[in-house]
Amino acid sequence: MMDFHLCWRSVRRARAYHSAHEVKVDTVPDPILRHADDIILRVSATAICGSDLHLYRGKVPGRMSGDIRGHEFMGEVVETGWWCRA
Ligand SMILES: [Zn+2]
Repeated sequence: MMDFHLCWRSVRRARAYHSAHEVKVDTVPDPILRHADDIILRVSATAICGSDLHLYRGKVPGRMSGDIRGHEFMGEVVETGWWCRA
């Protein structure tokens, strides 16, 4: 059993690659802005993509265990880097 001392609303979950045929939903740290053109998005809906199958099968070089993957989502922008404008 995992021991979390966090409010449930502050727990972030993300799909993470661990190895070929091993993709899990992990608890991850809160995101931070690292670059001027970064945004932080509160994801409200997501899906997998056909290109995710290449990752799942271990066919994408350079992947590290724990890499957070995904590019098919929608949500609310909650924070932006200084370079981002509406
Ligand atoms: Zn896609």
